[in-house]
Amino acid sequence: MQELTHYINGEHVKGTSGRFADVMNPHTGEVQAKVPLANNAELEQAVAHAQAAQPAWGATNPQRRARVLMKFVDLLNRDMDKLAEVLSREHGKTVPDAKGDIQRGLEVVEYCIGAPQMLKGEYTDSAGPGIDMYSMRQPLGVTAGITPFNFPAMIPMWMFAPALACGNAFILKPSERDPSVPLMLAELAEEAGLPKGLLQVVNGDKEAVDAILYNQTIQSIGFVGSTPIAEYIYGTGCSQGKRVQCFGGAKNHMIVMPDADMDQAADALIGAGYGAAGERCMAISVAVPVGDETADRLIEKLVPRIEKLKVGPYTDGDDVDYGPVVTAAAKANIERLVQSGVDQGAKLVVDGRGFSLQGYEDGFFVGPHLFDHVTPDMDIYKTEIFGPVLSTVRAGSYEEALKLAMDHEYGNGTAIFTRDGDTARDFANRINIGMVGINVPIPVPLAYHTFGGWKKSVFGDLNQHGPDAFKFYTRTKTVTSRWPSGLKEGGEFHFKAMD
Ligand code: NAD
Repeated sequence: MQELTHYINGEHVKGTSGRFADVMNPHTGEVQAKVPLANNAELEQAVAHAQAAQPAWGATNPQRRARVLMKFVDLLNRDMDKLAEVLSREHGKTVPDAKGDIQRGLEVVEYCIGAPQMLKGEYTDSAGPGIDMYSMRQPLGVTAGITPFNFPAMIPMWMFAPALACGNAFILKPSERDPSVPLMLAELAEEAGLPKGLLQVVNGDKEAVDAILYNQTIQSIGFVGSTPIAEYIYGTGCSQGKRVQCFGGAKNHMIVMPDADMDQAADALIGAGYGAAGERCMAISVAVPVGDETADRLIEKLVPRIEKLKVGPYTDGDDVDYGPVVTAAAKANIERLVQSGVDQGAKLVVDGRGFSLQGYEDGFFVGPHLFDHVTPDMDIYKTEIFGPVLSTVRAGSYEEALKLAMDHEYGNGTAIFTRDGDTARDFANRINIGMVGINVPIPVPLAYHTFGGWKKSVFGDLNQHGPDAFKFYTRTKTVTSRWPSGLKEGGEFHFKAMD
């Protein structure tokens, strides 16, 4: 049995807490490795190394720091196949999906190579006689990130690339369910020239998270995961005086107008609803056709497409649509919610219950499900299922569809499918959701824009990546300076222009 490690000060370090978690192979249901769960002492070791390494890194010019990231991008490309294989084996997503996970992280690293431009600061010449004023962005010091299982490459990179580009040290506490790729990323960063102690991986569960939350050296925490944990981390982190940004769960609606291209809408729902087994925070989990006729046409298009989906292990190649969900507990939770949908009166149009894959009977595979006639009071509507389950809520009008999405507690992403520009524009302007797609089902912004939801999908002010990341990982200092040219003859200061 493989025993994974932490990555502290450039070394793979064995866990000393005596506590471990199982890392499963979701395809077979077998334990494939043990990951150590850090205690406070282990976290403190990492913090001490980070604190020692950060000042020199923070004082390194931004262009040199960016060159390390440039090299890191090369190494990610070099090792793409290897990283994707490990990612698929632990997470369960297909190889193309795993490569997408790495690629979307890599793009943020590329964006952060522009740090010298982003960190230039502001300057006002002659704010008064002989007086100049300038603002600079300085690193926070030691920063930390806590990441979810569903994007074990992308989300750590979304955090550590800007943190490092801004001159910080970063401690990553990845998900204990798929920690291998984060460990590999830390090794690669060092191979790219990052000095030891600047990117460390401390594996663990709540105990390690609490150690981070209460550590007085750590200045900021980035979190991505479920909403209850996001809320806990935001509240506790803020009470400890830290800068915190937390991104939580989602229930993303896709509104289908009667004038939409129905084939395009159905294809979009297949990818966005069932891709990665629905384990994406930007997955579409609710289809909202407007009008019964639209709903009937949409369901008619969806059913054969869903029945054709190939569920299987990543080793079966590119024609696999999605793989297993991450753990037995995740599978059981999906099954429980599907049953609640049936019990509460939704119509299960495609029934994926009892799905089993020959040769992988103990794996965590879940068949695709499609519900129709779902209503807002049902648990399958209110809860984030995080599985291959699409719910259809029929709306009588555009206004009703809009209100439905607006009234949901989550506000991560949404989409509208229509051929009408006025409707699309109205939707984009009025909806209270952070990321909006117009005939685009998964509107994940590119690296140079920012990513973030609204409502219970986010806690904090700034989004991930894009310009916001440079704000989150730096503090602004503003200097006002006065030099002798501001002196009047006779040595008296001349304040008038400042008054
Ligand atoms: P999770 O909340 O269970 O875990 C996230 C992290 O929190 C992990 O590192 C985990 O070890 C830690 N954690 C778990 N329980 C904890 C506790 N009681 N106290 C302290 N820390 C704890 O989330 P997950 O299952 O890994 O990921 C799926 C969730 O993440 C979904 O809700 C999904 O929508 C969300 N997500 C959101 C975004 C976004 O940008 N909004 C992106 C990806 C995933």
